[in-house]
Amino acid sequence: MTPDGTALGPSAPVAAYDEQIMPELPELQIVAELMGEAVRGAQVDSALAPGINTLKTLRPPLSALEGLTVQGVRRRGKHLIVDFSDGLSLLIHLMSAGRLQLYDRRAGPHDRSSRLLLRVRAPARDGGSVGAAGAGRAAGAAGTVSAAGPVDAAGTVSAAGAVGAPPELELRLRELGPRQAAWAKLLPCAQLDGDPALAGLGPDAWPQTPVLAGIAPGSRPLNALLRDQRVIAGIGRSWADEILWEARLSPYRRLSDLDAAQLSGLREAIFTVLDGAIAHYRRELSLPLPDRMPAPLRIHRHRGDPCPRCGATLRGVHLQENVIAYCPDCQTAGRILKDRRLSRILR
Ligand SMILES: [Zn+2]
Repeated sequence: MTPDGTALGPSAPVAAYDEQIMPELPELQIVAELMGEAVRGAQVDSALAPGINTLKTLRPPLSALEGLTVQGVRRRGKHLIVDFSDGLSLLIHLMSAGRLQLYDRRAGPHDRSSRLLLRVRAPARDGGSVGAAGAGRAAGAAGTVSAAGPVDAAGTVSAAGAVGAPPELELRLRELGPRQAAWAKLLPCAQLDGDPALAGLGPDAWPQTPVLAGIAPGSRPLNALLRDQRVIAGIGRSWADEILWEARLSPYRRLSDLDAAQLSGLREAIFTVLDGAIAHYRRELSLPLPDRMPAPLRIHRHRGDPCPRCGATLRGVHLQENVIAYCPDCQTAGRILKDRRLSRILR
């Protein structure tokens, strides 16, 4: 990946982003940015939780959101936070198969993917009624093509705009597949930092990538360390592979074995890779968000493909349910890493 991400244009190979891949920092960042832009200032009509296990808090009740204004959507680590007036916040973790999407009509009774529904009235832009600009934005936000079959919003929205009523939108937490793992908590904003989900998080990996020297005991393999949210927040299986490839470091190197140049190189790789991915999404994505994000992965899930840098065959090593991908020539001085899954079985 080039520093400015130019190698990640539409023609770059794009890996399938299926439900096995957990959304990580770049994917959640673009969701927060696009959703925030679309619903900031919107007023909540109603809030429902069709997913019986999704909402992990009882008080305040979800109905407390009715009538409140959406103040913004932000990200912390791999969490999304929707802030409302009156000091309430919805903390969301999408886990592996959750998606936060915006629709221009309400979920039907047979939509089994809905976990949480926030029905809002989109804000009038530029302080006036929904004029051409406002309708255009809302249509862009809500005109949808995703699998659940939403309609083309243009007619609806411009009709609503014509009579001056703000368009109705539905912010929907969906979950692809049968599992209910995605969760949400409704909390006073002041309690967010103390919530166990956020309290233990390390510094965000982007945009202020932390200095790595001394950030954690150095005895664990880098691939595990980078994915430890208590050490550095936002990186998972996909982007850890990309980062270590970018830094030319073995997934099994230890932090304590790195010299100063390698430490700063790794820090730079974290920033460059995540920043490049976010830049890619900013170029490629607009609302409605697809179920499958066009993740510009070049190493993860590319075992067997040629290394984009040196052409050597990318290898994979199993670690629990994950396959760590790496380039032997760029990262391990030609050494093929032992498949620990196999060795454990054979031992
Ligand atoms: Zn290589």
